Amino acid sequence: MNQDIRKKFPFYIKNKDVSYLDSAASSLKLKSVIESLNDYYANNGSNIHRGVYRLAYEATNQFEETREYVSKFINSNLNEVVFTKGTTDSLNKIASSYSDFIFEDDEIITTELEHHSSFIPWQVIAKEKKARLKFLPLTEEGKITVENFKKVISNKTKVVAITYVSNVLGYVTPIKEIIEIAHQNGAIVILDAAQAASHLKIDVKELDVDFLAFSSHKMYGPNGVGILFGKEKLLNQLKPFEYGGEMAHLVFKDESSWKDIPYKFEAGTPVIAEVIAFKESIKFLEEISLDKIHEHEMKLRDYTLNKLKDVKGLTVYNKTAETGIITFNIENVHPHDAASILDQNNVCVRAGHHCAQLVAKFLGVTATLRASFAVYNDYKDCDNLVNAIIATRDFFESF
Ligand code: PMP
Repeated sequence: MNQDIRKKFPFYIKNKDVSYLDSAASSLKLKSVIESLNDYYANNGSNIHRGVYRLAYEATNQFEETREYVSKFINSNLNEVVFTKGTTDSLNKIASSYSDFIFEDDEIITTELEHHSSFIPWQVIAKEKKARLKFLPLTEEGKITVENFKKVISNKTKVVAITYVSNVLGYVTPIKEIIEIAHQNGAIVILDAAQAASHLKIDVKELDVDFLAFSSHKMYGPNGVGILFGKEKLLNQLKPFEYGGEMAHLVFKDESSWKDIPYKFEAGTPVIAEVIAFKESIKFLEEISLDKIHEHEMKLRDYTLNKLKDVKGLTVYNKTAETGIITFNIENVHPHDAASILDQNNVCVRAGHHCAQLVAKFLGVTATLRASFAVYNDYKDCDNLVNAIIATRDFFESF
């Protein structure tokens, strides 16, 4: 990977010795993103879709331009891109709105690999509607397979709520086949792409996915911006998520009507600067290409795993992951304690259940450590991680 990449991330000006390996939680932010945010806040500040003066038009155009970038990025129609606050917001909104079509005895399929935001909304809806929540059995390693999906899908299945890439184990779901089978059985698929969007190319038309969610902050972009993709036909069938400014068409005392999609789903003032700046992330990802980014992250992962295989007292839970995530534990050391010592060695990793408690239960642990690679990481980060793990193990062993 080009050495100049780090220059695009101002983080490294003050933190050049930090090995930031927590990009699966949130990535570092691009200089171009920060400059774009600054530009809007310093030089504009107006609302969008409302004012009829030049600055308001400019803000609206820049905001809508991001929608074009996103729709090209995932190969959707323009009106199929809805801006939300994040993946959690997208998944909750779609679950709550689509629950209108769920009735008693319907089946909802999910997996133990889900992030809480993909699974809990459907757990709650299943209870409310007396529908059945079914879990796709994972393989011994914790993977989702088409074969096991076939065991749980039936013509009673209405929704498949599933992750594209597990945020704990980094496994990639064979989603194209799963979508095909779901459709053959009359079910729709809601895909959590939070951990996929900055690593794997997503083509919603090729996948034929019904709904898809991801977050800008994991893609070198600003916080507070989420994407909800939905097929035009399905979005048109859904009621608005919220009522208020700029989503209504005609308003009378006794009833109101809604704007066309996607605007009927975007009530209120959005995070304007953040949406405008998000297009800088997409430009960056496309300039380098997701294939190259993924290849780079896998090289770093393989290099690290190769070094870790000789380290005693370490359990790696996802040796065969297809994305740049290493999830592990150090024997007899609580992950939070380990993460603190790693931090003293300038290595940032995540510790905990990663908002996916069912995965921890599946692994038979309460928590794990997770190192996740991104475009700006290099072999020095890998060495720092390995050395810090050894130092942590030795530190606790000395007691
Ligand atoms: N799904 C997955 C797989 C994730 O990794 C995350 C973020 N950890 C989310 C959903 C939720 O994303 P956000 O916090 O941006 O709403």
